Amino acid sequence: MAGSNFMKLSFASRSENEAFARVAVASFASQLDPDMNELTDIKTVVSEAVTNSIIHGYNNRSDCTVTITARIEDETLYLTVEDQGEGIADPEQARQPLFTSKPELERSGMGFTIMENFMDRVEIETEIGKGTMVRMTKRIESKKALYN
Ligand code: ATP
Ligand code: MG
Repeated sequence: MAGSNFMKLSFASRSENEAFARVAVASFASQLDPDMNELTDIKTVVSEAVTNSIIHGYNNRSDCTVTITARIEDETLYLTVEDQGEGIADPEQARQPLFTSKPELERSGMGFTIMENFMDRVEIETEIGKGTMVRMTKRIESKKALYN
């Protein structure tokens, strides 16, 4: 698909919606004709970011809102996952592999590391008491080019 396209999705901060969100984003991203690995990467990062908003941002409250936007610009997918939760005091620390503020919940502290590995860029915008937006970018290599 050439040119640009976008979508925006808001849903309740319930863990059931993690599966919904990743399928919705994968479906939208399929316009870029990603291969299986790329699609799995996209689903995984959506799961990680949405889980973070629900568990950390909202402390597992289910009556709050998570919003995802996805934009396609040429061969690149731009994703945002946003909450109006508690925010992150030290985002640089939060990105470190194995850092978790909830070891008692058996979190492994690998969510941001996975996002960084699977996407080309990951940026965190956050403010204490206001919320967090994670911006991610991934270029989908066009398979069609292989056959041209
Ligand atoms: P895992 O993802 O492996 O289950 P984790 O969620 O603790 O463990 P990361 O996803 O890397 O690990 O996040 C690191 C830390 O960043 C979290 O422990 C939490 O303190 C903070 N954090 C991440 N996302 C948010 C968010 N949306 N709102 C508030 N804090 C967050
Ligand atoms: Mg996490």
